[in-house]
Amino acid sequence: MDRQGCGGCACGTVRYALESAPYDAGWCHCRICQLNSGAPAMAFASVPVEDFAFVAGADKVKRFQSTGFGHRLFCGECGTPLLMRVDHQPETVDFSIATLDDPDRVPPEFHIFRASRIGWFETGDDLPRHDRFRSGTRGLEGTEPPE
Ligand SMILES: [Zn+2]
Ligand SMILES: [Zn+2]
Repeated sequence: MDRQGCGGCACGTVRYALESAPYDAGWCHCRICQLNSGAPAMAFASVPVEDFAFVAGADKVKRFQSTGFGHRLFCGECGTPLLMRVDHQPETVDFSIATLDDPDRVPPEFHIFRASRIGWFETGDDLPRHDRFRSGTRGLEGTEPPE
């Protein structure tokens, strides 16, 4: 098995492994990410759904329907947010980069949902900044799901 990274939650109950290199790493400043994390923003990256595996604690993972088109998965023991799934991209899993054992390996490449950025939070980078989704987001085809 050619693992491209492993990660898990704060209490160690839930562990996961990636079987391919993550892509589309980016910051999300949406309000749901702020509330879900208790932080000003979250950073996510994607892998194909078949390349993501829970290797411990899968039965402790809980699900939260966060929007009409997506849900979040988190550790039911400690609450660490781990995954986001959206209906328009059923073939991929978005995982929280910060939960990787080595998050330095997956640097963000863009910012989305800057429209809901907290005013005092600004990262020191020159990455592309989008008010909502990136144009051309896979699965959206020009139409954006409702907030
Ligand atoms: Zn946990
Ligand atoms: Zn978000």
